[in-house]
Amino acid sequence: MALLNIVKEGDPTLRKISRPVTEITPRILTLLDDMTETMRHADGCGLAAPQVGILRRVVVIEVEPGKVFEMINPKIVAFAGHQEGVEGCLSIPGKAGITNRPAAVTVRYTDREGKLMELRGTELLARAICHETDHLDGKLFIDEGIQIRPIKEED
Ligand code: ZN
Repeated sequence: MALLNIVKEGDPTLRKISRPVTEITPRILTLLDDMTETMRHADGCGLAAPQVGILRRVVVIEVEPGKVFEMINPKIVAFAGHQEGVEGCLSIPGKAGITNRPAAVTVRYTDREGKLMELRGTELLARAICHETDHLDGKLFIDEGIQIRPIKEED
């Protein structure tokens, strides 16, 4: 496994649309492993492939330590309710903000074995699913319509 470089806000890669994965190659499996390692090393709870400069629809999420969701071609198929909460991004260090997200989302994705999976997430998991799938469409939590207000960092 290897640590990958996380690109930061201002890098045009973060604003591009990622391409679907059509075949789960060894390269995709290595990407999943490296993304998980990179996310953990950066103390994050989610990472999307464009954040490491790779425009493929791949995300990893770990909101509960030890329970990593590796999602290939994730797509939110249902959502319900609202929640407000603090959000941050490994590509936007030091700029947390309050966002309005669905209280619950259902996501369909392919796992590393090629199986079609469906997962319903609430609370932080719902927020992470929204945040990471947004990355695949070039959206960031600081964008208009996502962030409600910034949080001023106390020093
Ligand atoms: Zn992010």
